[in-house]
Amino acid sequence: MADPRAERSRVHRHPERADYDRQTLYRVLDAAATGHVGFVRRGEPVVLPTVYGRRGDVLYLHGSRAAGMFGDLAGGAAVCVTVTLTDGIVLAASVYNHSMNYRSAVVFGHADLVVDPDEVMLALQAVTEQIMPGRWQEARPPNRAELRATRVMRVPIEEASVKIRSGPPQDAVRDAALSVWTGVVPLSLTAGPPEAQRTGRRALPLPRYVADYVRRAAAPWAAADGAASPD
Ligand SMILES: Cc1cc2nc3c(=O)[nH]c(=O)nc-3n(C[C@H](O)[C@H](O)[C@H](O)COP(=O)(O)OP(=O)(O)OC[C@H]3O[C@@H](n4cnc5c(N)ncnc54)[C@H](O)[C@@H]3O)c2cc1C
Repeated sequence: MADPRAERSRVHRHPERADYDRQTLYRVLDAAATGHVGFVRRGEPVVLPTVYGRRGDVLYLHGSRAAGMFGDLAGGAAVCVTVTLTDGIVLAASVYNHSMNYRSAVVFGHADLVVDPDEVMLALQAVTEQIMPGRWQEARPPNRAELRATRVMRVPIEEASVKIRSGPPQDAVRDAALSVWTGVVPLSLTAGPPEAQRTGRRALPLPRYVADYVRRAAAPWAAADGAASPD
């Protein structure tokens, strides 16, 4: 008998673009820092953008105790977390075949409030490191008042799907002779030159992990004009 939960995460359109492998899922989740959390609030669907962190098979969300989402999720609510990396604009000859190149993930799970202080710290570390690898080591850790003001939710990944589109447009043969420019405009998230905060702070050298992050983000401004690397 078909598992109805597996049916929930089965990609129907272009199933050849689907991937259900955990390592592929982790690669997509780890490549992004922001996602969207969908859940039902008083009978209506809500989808909110958020940062997250991953530890193994668990996604962690964090936010203010005053934030509505964390009150709604605290009681084991069903959630759907999505992450999208847009890799290109696909310009086909026909409007019908226009598309995007992308890597996207859809995760289903139930949210749970994290109360164990050790797990709270590990979750906050995961979220901080997802935003900027290396940052946890340098920034001041949360104090007791900040921890009291913070809610951390755990979403164990119960079920997930990844969908990946890459490559050129796929036009119908009858459109091959049309005099229309076709191709892909690649898109990527790039980092610009870091802007040190000038007011009220002592000038410090750029940390190596920030410079490394900028380099990894393939900053075109550095390659194009031969500007010195930020470190
Ligand atoms: C940037 C971007 C733009 C897109 N634009 C369009 C568009 O304009 N029109 C359109 O029809 N589709 C678009 N898609 C694809 C869309 O997300 C769905 O894949 C598509 O609607 C077909 O869904 P389905 O009927 O196969 O799955 P559904 O029956 O709708 O969903 C079943 C299950 O498949 C899985 N699934 C479906 N889509 C994805 C996905 N993208 N990533 C991971 N898991 C998925 C989920 O687990 C979901 O619960 C876009 C995707 C991305 C990332």
